[in-house]
Amino acid sequence: MEERLSNTEKDALGEIGAAQAKDELEQVRIKYLGRKGILARFFKELETVSGEKRPVVGQAINRLKKVLAQSIKQREGELSSKAGKADSLGVDITMPGADPGIGNLHPVTKTLNDICGIFSHMGFAVIEGPEIETEFNNFEALNIPLEHPSRDTFDTFYIDTKNFDTDMEKRRLLRSHTSPVQIRYMQDKVPPFSIVAPGKVFRPDATDASHSFMFYQVEGLVVGKDINFANLKWTLFEFARQYFGTSSKMRFRPHFFPFTEPSAEVDISCMICNGAGCRVCSQSGWLEILGAGMVDPNVFQAVNIDTGLYSGFAFGMGVERIAMLKHGIDDIRLLYENDIRFLKQF
Ligand SMILES: [Zn+2]
Repeated sequence: MEERLSNTEKDALGEIGAAQAKDELEQVRIKYLGRKGILARFFKELETVSGEKRPVVGQAINRLKKVLAQSIKQREGELSSKAGKADSLGVDITMPGADPGIGNLHPVTKTLNDICGIFSHMGFAVIEGPEIETEFNNFEALNIPLEHPSRDTFDTFYIDTKNFDTDMEKRRLLRSHTSPVQIRYMQDKVPPFSIVAPGKVFRPDATDASHSFMFYQVEGLVVGKDINFANLKWTLFEFARQYFGTSSKMRFRPHFFPFTEPSAEVDISCMICNGAGCRVCSQSGWLEILGAGMVDPNVFQAVNIDTGLYSGFAFGMGVERIAMLKHGIDDIRLLYENDIRFLKQF
């Protein structure tokens, strides 16, 4: 009988080890440890064993029972972790996790980062300035004379209009472009330098598909010895090539800005129709993306930079407009309505 016990142990351990699923293991358990199982039969047989031997055989059966129960428990644990069904907390680690709802950057932020990234690689420093500016920094130093329509109270958000007749250096407004950052920088630093100034600007425009009272601009400024229009063209062309793609073409149209002379408006070939003409480019094949020009000597004088020694160029673009062109968005208001379904697409 002892020999049969040891054979049974070998068989049982082999079957336990071979069980690949919990129900398979359960069958093995029933076969050996069940109420009518093999070990139960051994116990029954024990009654026929002679008196002296009975305790020894009884102990051997009990030991086998313990060994098998323990082995089954261990195998059960192995199968559980293998299937990942349950850890000690009863958590199914193979279940997909709960979506924590991680957001993404706003399309305007992304566009801003992309634009600044391209200019950073070209050696431009990214400089920021305050959104509340003096009238001097926003207009006067940029060669925008008092009679210019943009200085009218209806075209600028002035702050504290009660003290309107106070010094221009002290009169405050919400900046209408990021150009005052250039003024602050030039007052502070000695050329040469190249900077881009990203940020929010404010104009009391009625809101429609292409206007908002607040929008983002990136303006650029390069000042040094022998800076010329060819440098400006190359810089902007390189930007367009990197941002809109290598096949994009660029053209300059003469224009007037108070702070640059000569000045140009810059178009790129429409990336939607490749210049053939479509609804987005009003059938012209071209899209206006920015304004640029050589820094007007009056601007340099306002910040005490020697015009005999230095020259420079500047450019500025609306970030929303660039984002809208790139992604085919036809209404600027979509960018500010905080509709997650819209914002998730970018
Ligand atoms: Zn087009």
